[in-house]
Amino acid sequence: MTTSVTIIGAGLGGLTLARVLHLHGIPATIYEAEPSPMARAQGGLLDIHDYNGQLALEAADLMNEFRGIILEGHQAMRVLDPDGTVLLDKADDGTGGRPEVHRADLRQILLDSLPAGTVRWAHKLSSVRPLEKGRYELTFADGSTAVTSLLVGADGAWSRVRPLLSSATPEYAGKSAVETYLLDADTNHPATAKAVGGGSMISATRGKELFAHREKHATLHTYAVLAKPLDWFAAIDFTDTTAATARIAREFDGWAPELTALITASDTAPLLRPQYTLPIGHRWDRVPGVTLLGDAAHLAPPSGEGANLAMLDGADLGKALAAHPDDVETALTEYEQAMFPRSVEMPLEAVEFFESFHQPR
Ligand SMILES: Cc1cc2nc3c(=O)[nH]c(=O)nc-3n(C[C@H](O)[C@H](O)[C@H](O)COP(=O)(O)OP(=O)(O)OC[C@H]3O[C@@H](n4cnc5c(N)ncnc54)[C@H](O)[C@@H]3O)c2cc1C
Repeated sequence: MTTSVTIIGAGLGGLTLARVLHLHGIPATIYEAEPSPMARAQGGLLDIHDYNGQLALEAADLMNEFRGIILEGHQAMRVLDPDGTVLLDKADDGTGGRPEVHRADLRQILLDSLPAGTVRWAHKLSSVRPLEKGRYELTFADGSTAVTSLLVGADGAWSRVRPLLSSATPEYAGKSAVETYLLDADTNHPATAKAVGGGSMISATRGKELFAHREKHATLHTYAVLAKPLDWFAAIDFTDTTAATARIAREFDGWAPELTALITASDTAPLLRPQYTLPIGHRWDRVPGVTLLGDAAHLAPPSGEGANLAMLDGADLGKALAAHPDDVETALTEYEQAMFPRSVEMPLEAVEFFESFHQPR
């Protein structure tokens, strides 16, 4: 295959695609909006599953590098009743299929596996214009342009490529997370560190969840999730850290103090993260020379599957293009027909799994 593949977005999905293409000798260029790999903190831990994310890493021939960044012991899981009673305490015996890694470390091994210059940083796509015969003209925020005959939108929730294929736009999913961090918690907050344990901890009632992870250096990273409309959050002044913390914590009144401390004792200002979703089952009819992967294709509220699915999409698309080097449309059809159904099934199963921990209150 001599056509160079143009990928918009150097997230986990776009990078995995470029890596698998590279292994098959297919050239690719990634245009990424951010100015550099270090421009933004990459978020917390991801558990990479043996039924999707790890399959992608195998296709990318990066399993050894992946094993080197696994945080041993962090697959432990605890479920607590809001009063602090331990309902489930599952140790990490090293045999689980969902090892935890830092997102930044995972992104770095993918970046390191690509030929120099594959990612063009500081190239924010502003618009795409269809030309004749499945070709597209890309215009970037700095005014530069490029033309491609094979375009992949790996540009996340607010994809600029998606409108070529579908009129769907993300809608508020009815929940928002408020993100907090406790630093050096073994020393500073031992009761909370014990409650969270060595891996992840969930405590939930209907409409309210505390979901915490132990990261490196005994950092506890928490999402306090509330099923409230956007207006409710808009009425809170998140620039006033004390008032915003108190307002969010009030929703968890009566919960065990070692749990509410995840909010009230935060070393960082509470950060609001509204959750958006595309319609479940979002799909499109084949349009020559363009497709989507990851959140651009099937954004869903966080379920622990999104990054895993984005990587599997990237790997599968790369393999399909390698299998049909002279017939891009067959490759894109094969990829999309496998991707559409699994992007519905896996997040739904994951949501059911999480909801099974909700305590009736
Ligand atoms: C709070 C939170 C927690 C989550 N936790 C988990 C978890 O534990 N496990 C899990 O599997 N998933 C999790 N997810 C979901 C996961 O983060 C996403 O599903 C995953 O990152 C999607 O990967 P992607 O490559 O499709 O897109 P992204 O990771 O969003 O990458 C898109 C890239 O495109 C770039 N871009 C965007 N627009 C443009 C443009 N116009 N021009 C050029 N570049 C552009 C962006 O800068 C970015 O680098 C979580 C999500 C959130 C919000």
